[in-house]
Amino acid sequence: MRTINSKDITEAVKKAAIEANTLLPTDIYQALQEAYAKEQLPRAKHILEVLLENADLARQEGLALCQDTGLVVVNITFGQEVHVEGSLEEAVNEGIRRGYREGHFRASVVRHPFRRENTGDNTPCVIHTELVPGDGMQLTVFPKGAGSENMGRVAMLKPGAGEQGIIDFVIEAIEMAGGSPCPPLVVGVGVGGNLEVAPYLAKKALMRPLGKPGPHPELEHKLLELINRTGIGPQGLGGNTTALGVNLEVHPTHIASLPVAVNLGCHSTRRCTVEL
Ligand code: SF4
Repeated sequence: MRTINSKDITEAVKKAAIEANTLLPTDIYQALQEAYAKEQLPRAKHILEVLLENADLARQEGLALCQDTGLVVVNITFGQEVHVEGSLEEAVNEGIRRGYREGHFRASVVRHPFRRENTGDNTPCVIHTELVPGDGMQLTVFPKGAGSENMGRVAMLKPGAGEQGIIDFVIEAIEMAGGSPCPPLVVGVGVGGNLEVAPYLAKKALMRPLGKPGPHPELEHKLLELINRTGIGPQGLGGNTTALGVNLEVHPTHIASLPVAVNLGCHSTRRCTVEL
């Protein structure tokens, strides 16, 4: 059994929170560059240029990529042979608290959905843990803005809807979202599981770097082509670049179910993974 001190977790999460908010991941930055090179519509091209400039400035000045620094999701893969000294949940939240304070990032979390008083330090975050073999721990810090999160959708399709039903649902979600989720998007799709698993898969899909192979690359490619044919374009003002990529994850499901969820990542899809 390996012991990890909760103070080390707090420090790692703090650094990851600052990095995630100020450094656009390389794969997203490269995808924006490629989209800029390919985009035909001058207005869309200009927007992509501004987004690249924004990412450069954030990196150089240590500033937030976007004013909405999000509700933070922290995905933890937790080795079965790890023992945490202290509270894991409190250690992670303390890391977010310190990172947001040091980074001067906006606090966007309200304590109760009806009363809506701001907690003042962007906690609590949303924590998911997955048990894996071994004595390591990996944490992905994923600040998620509401503009894109609010446009996510989930459906319990009939199994007979098949692949075409999945495609139709994803395209409908993109068209309903329009410019609200700040395109160009990263589109996370979760298929299978049940009513709670499919949305989790869609969120997890957004944490996979663009270009890293998933279980269904052909369907991802087909969806990306169809999404970019909608013409919604950067910031919803028209163009060929509505999405930079589609990541799809699957899970076993019930014989009578075909759950599908869509979670949209914006042009500032931010994440930072650390290992302990
Ligand atoms: S959707 Fe993304 S880019 Fe748009 S306001 Fe929210 S965090 Fe910022």
